[in-house]
Amino acid sequence: MSPDPRDIDWLRRLPKTDIHCHLDGSLRPQTVLDLSRQYKVKLPADTLEGITPLVQVGPTCGSLREFLDVFDVIYPLLRHPAAVERIAYELVEDCALENIRHVEVRLAPELQALSSFDSEKVLEATLKGLDRGARDFGTTSSVIVCLFRAHGPAENRRAFGALKRLFRPQTKLSQPAVVGVDLAGDEARYPTIQFASFFEEAQELGIHTTCHAGETLGTANLEAALQLSVMRIGHGIHLMEDQRLLAEVVRRKVPLEVGITSNVSTKSVPNLASHPARTFHQAGVPVTLNTDDRGILGIDLTHEYGQAVALGFSLEELAGIALGSIDHLFLPAPERARLKLAFESEIATMLPRAGRALA
Ligand SMILES: [Zn+2]
Repeated sequence: MSPDPRDIDWLRRLPKTDIHCHLDGSLRPQTVLDLSRQYKVKLPADTLEGITPLVQVGPTCGSLREFLDVFDVIYPLLRHPAAVERIAYELVEDCALENIRHVEVRLAPELQALSSFDSEKVLEATLKGLDRGARDFGTTSSVIVCLFRAHGPAENRRAFGALKRLFRPQTKLSQPAVVGVDLAGDEARYPTIQFASFFEEAQELGIHTTCHAGETLGTANLEAALQLSVMRIGHGIHLMEDQRLLAEVVRRKVPLEVGITSNVSTKSVPNLASHPARTFHQAGVPVTLNTDDRGILGIDLTHEYGQAVALGFSLEELAGIALGSIDHLFLPAPERARLKLAFESEIATMLPRAGRALA
């Protein structure tokens, strides 16, 4: 069942947050083309029509592996400060266009780093673009640093060191800052528990924590994430396989950062209809809806909320999810409270539409 266009319009206007959004997965195809020309990086195509299929996966995307191949095209472009600043700025603009009011942008800076452009500089260029975006478009943001599973301890130490130097626990909404740590990459080959020391140190320092877990296989990484007391879980699809872990997530109210289209594209779920987002919600798991990789997937967050409608969520429930996501932002409580008030008053003026849709 595809959603009513009026519902899509309503969902576009609904104030939202995106708390699982990869910077390197959020490039516009036109920007890939522009940057390849600007930095004289030779790509297999040099027209928008030629580039788009190389940087956006279609419905035929077979696996996470195929999905990750896109990054081979994108990464040579991301090793220049001005390019990083530009994509961060454009991401804020894209978010503002669909009333995303706060976006938590994540990136693995060591994947982009060079000797002359280290992790700290990568993060600073990102913050600069986000800050300029906030001033021009009004959408605020924070940065989450991804450690990368395939990286050795030296590289992850460098990323974590940059995170510690730039971490601002008492940040304001108006000022983009580095606020948290994540673990991304191949969870089959590099189990979460190998990275335990980073999460333990983050916790001691008050750095917020999230972790990709249970996205592509099994529950061992979910178990480890819970053992390490991470504050949020990226995806967590395989939680369905273990009722004990599911009950634990509900008991601790650990939010899942769900990316519906991402999970379908990487074959984490066989198809949209079998996505467990609604089952999680009904079981009492705090669910948040996110883009994951809006550029590569060719989607926006409104599309993801539309997919949730297709899974059976009502507009009223989705307004509740948008509002509830604020509780899970990596921001000080007074800043979250301020944002929540703004959402509440805006949603209050919108709910008659949801009421009609429900009638
Ligand atoms: Zn992700």
